[in-house]
Amino acid sequence: MNSEKNALIKRARRFAKPFRVTDGGAFRLKDIDPGDTLGLGDEAKPQAQEALALGVDVLAELQDKLYAQDRWSVLLIFQAMDAAGKDGAIKHVMSGVNPQGCQVFSFKAPSSEDLDHDYLWRCMKCLPERGRIGIFNRSYYEETLVVRVHPEFLTKQKLPPQLVTKDVWKERFEDIRAFEQYLAHNGVVVVKFFLHVSKKEQKKRFLERLENPEKNWKFSANDAKEREFWNDYMDAYEETIKNTATRHAPWYVVPADNKWFTRVVVAAAVISALDSLELAYPEVGKEQQAELAAAKQALLGGK
Ligand code: ATP
Ligand code: MG
Repeated sequence: MNSEKNALIKRARRFAKPFRVTDGGAFRLKDIDPGDTLGLGDEAKPQAQEALALGVDVLAELQDKLYAQDRWSVLLIFQAMDAAGKDGAIKHVMSGVNPQGCQVFSFKAPSSEDLDHDYLWRCMKCLPERGRIGIFNRSYYEETLVVRVHPEFLTKQKLPPQLVTKDVWKERFEDIRAFEQYLAHNGVVVVKFFLHVSKKEQKKRFLERLENPEKNWKFSANDAKEREFWNDYMDAYEETIKNTATRHAPWYVVPADNKWFTRVVVAAAVISALDSLELAYPEVGKEQQAELAAAKQALLGGK
């Protein structure tokens, strides 16, 4: 990697850091402003787009090494209120990555087969293979978010009633922490994103979806109805992040009122996570080198 790229990686690390939560103890959602751009105005947009394009290149290179090395896997989890820009962030940040090394899964309301199992089951089946980047568009975190906001979803989970006590959320946090620790012990690097949009910006984006025929398909009356529960969702996000932000599975709480800014922070965080693995192409041993030399000879000598 050339020095320009090394400099970009350094910048990416610095850029992502303020949004990273590794110890939830003192976390307060109100400390994060959804409109934050680290003081950059709209005039910074073209520069941000340039940085993103370069970032996408760097990411592609890192992912190539991840794939070649075939040791680590990376799980990127995206959570957000509707219209916060999950899909756009995933699309833009991963745009340069080799599709063979990347897997995206969306988790919607659970099916009856899902409900016949423990809640991690459907996500465990989709964990990334070694050498791959897996993306969860929503995840098992819905279990302490939408399910907490709407307790009727918990009732549908067919749990033995004596197991559902006042400690149910505390237990879910414990289990999720333990699960992510287990993943870390197995070489799965977990990075979690909460794209934090404001209620006001969400309204603006919903109105755009209603007014623009090409965006109509994105609008769902149910999404608008969920706005009534906004404060409950924010409490659930805060509790979730407080209880599940760890060194080995950090949350990034990303301001999401400005899409260009969100995408740069997400790209920077992914670059920073991959860079910390000190990835390198596998070295070829003496024996293999001899094999390569022999193969070359054969090719050159043949037709
Ligand atoms: P998105 O809303 O992520 O952009 P979408 O609009 O294509 O995707 P929806 O059909 O709205 O998909 O499905 C997402 C919905 O599924 C969300 O409202 C989410 O809260 C809900 N959901 C996800 N997991 C669960 C769960 N475990 N229990 C209940 N609801 C869930
Ligand atoms: Mg939806």
